[in-house]
Amino acid sequence: MDNELTGLEFACGIPGTLGGAIFMNAGAYGQEIGDKVIEIKYMDENLNIKTITKEESQFSYRKSIFQKNDGIILNAKIKLEKGIKENIKKKMDEYSKIRKAKQPLNMPSAGSVFKREENFIPAKLIDECGLKSYSIGDAQISSLHAGFIVNKGNATAKEITELIKYIQNKIKEKYNLIIEPEIRILGED
Ligand SMILES: Cc1cc2nc3c(=O)[nH]c(=O)nc-3n(C[C@H](O)[C@H](O)[C@H](O)COP(=O)(O)OP(=O)(O)OC[C@H]3O[C@@H](n4cnc5c(N)ncnc54)[C@H](O)[C@@H]3O)c2cc1C
Repeated sequence: MDNELTGLEFACGIPGTLGGAIFMNAGAYGQEIGDKVIEIKYMDENLNIKTITKEESQFSYRKSIFQKNDGIILNAKIKLEKGIKENIKKKMDEYSKIRKAKQPLNMPSAGSVFKREENFIPAKLIDECGLKSYSIGDAQISSLHAGFIVNKGNATAKEITELIKYIQNKIKEKYNLIIEPEIRILGED
């Protein structure tokens, strides 16, 4: 906004770094960071510095090649357009307002837990199952947004993964649909 460059407004409110956004191909409101990338410089597992293009980065929904190649993203060239500061600010304010109204930003979470599917929105189904506010220990399905799991205090990784499995089972039982996490689970719980 300060440099009057438009194209990244959708990212306003997505917490994280450029490296994390590229690794996860972070996106919102129909746009993704991968759309904006020209090239990426990274260090491979043999400590070689390489540059790859957007096409070589294999971006798809919440996916990039870095989830397969163990590379460390060092920097990225991003293509933006010249814009008008007031318009950029207006868009960013709109996106922030939507997020504040719809997401439990006052509580710790890892963001939206489940991948958006082509034919249905997992959060909507979770809500329809009456699961909003359901808890396992301190891990709770947000009362505001059924796609978020919030930490009420001292939630453990185990409580969160148990809650994810509980939700998946309920959705399978009621709709015979499989929903998959978009968050990455590291290590053992
Ligand atoms: C409230 C909230 C709202 C969110 N909304 C959205 C949303 O709208 N859209 C969306 O896509 N995501 C959303 N997220 C998820 C998250 O913000 C994004 O995935 C973000 O891009 C993660 O960036 P990070 O820097 O925090 O990465 P981390 O979460 O720290 O890491 C993510 C992965 O990237 C790897 N990584 C990080 N940096 C590098 C690097 N330099 N080189 C190689 N690998 C690296 C890490 O090892 C890890 O595997 C939300 C999260 C929260 C809490």
